[in-house]
Amino acid sequence: MGFGDHLREIAQGFQRARTEPLANHPLAALIRQSWPSSLRDSLGGRDAERYQFVGSPGQGQWSAAPWLAVLLHTVTKSAMGGFYPVYLFEPGFQTVCLVMGQGAQQLTDAVGRKRAGVELALRAQQMRANGGRWREQGFNEGPFTTLKFVTTANQRDYAADPWSNTAAFGKRYAVSALPEDAELVADLRAMLQLYDAMAEQRILKFSEEDEELSTLSAAGELPSGSLDGAKKVIVHKQIERRHRDRKLIERVKKQLGVECQACHFDFASAYGSLMEKFIEAHHNVPISTLPDTGAILKPTEADFMVLCSNCHRAIHRAGCPDLMEFKKHHVKGHFYKS
Ligand SMILES: [Zn+2]
Ligand SMILES: [Zn+2]
Repeated sequence: MGFGDHLREIAQGFQRARTEPLANHPLAALIRQSWPSSLRDSLGGRDAERYQFVGSPGQGQWSAAPWLAVLLHTVTKSAMGGFYPVYLFEPGFQTVCLVMGQGAQQLTDAVGRKRAGVELALRAQQMRANGGRWREQGFNEGPFTTLKFVTTANQRDYAADPWSNTAAFGKRYAVSALPEDAELVADLRAMLQLYDAMAEQRILKFSEEDEELSTLSAAGELPSGSLDGAKKVIVHKQIERRHRDRKLIERVKKQLGVECQACHFDFASAYGSLMEKFIEAHHNVPISTLPDTGAILKPTEADFMVLCSNCHRAIHRAGCPDLMEFKKHHVKGHFYKS
């Protein structure tokens, strides 16, 4: 059986299958194994080796609709994040789409569903703008109505999902008038060419951004509000890492002292000279005014402030305001000598 045959079988059988247990279900096995391998086989050759083919009926429970993603490992390690060509069924299972879609889970876990929705729609725009000649290849920008990512059989099924607008561009097929496998594969090849070109683009490194956002969130340093604030803090921390020049930091501490400039915790009197080095240097220059590389930082108050580690995290969480604003709005009191 070919890829198209499997596609029809899934479209016809999925809704019924969802009323039955997922474990050991033959249709679930087909979606996980035969469906992706039929696609890999029809693609053949070198391409079959370069990509990872992942078919999913749902994890632990049936999802609202199955999907089949084709992943390039330099773009994303899993279907949970990044972007990739994916086959998706639309509500009613009359149509199936091949879209340049995105993994929403990683970002949703890091920043919450609402902000992830906004960001993913923004990324879809960036993908359309930087995705090359997808229109000429016969793709359009939809809209493609995808199904809610995970719902149990008891929940209200098939609600329209904000995930829909995460698809950048794609193509729709009627299941009842599906083209031959050769044509389906030709479309996929065209999609994969676009994918390869997009994989090279700096502006589309979404997986790395998701990693950074997860780290920030886990550290409690994710600013509230729009993700623009979070992105600023990410760049800020990258610069701090890049400038983790021990000599420079030593000079900063020599210049600015070992008392937290925000809460006035004094490391020297608290811990003595041996541990006064625990004061941290926070980079002070608005990121937007810095050139991409080659910023030369000076160990002065204009470029740095010294903070205790609590205030340092808090100022990141507040979105890196300047010292005056941070003290005014975020430091409630001085608990040490003032
Ligand atoms: Zn402090
Ligand atoms: Zn900092």
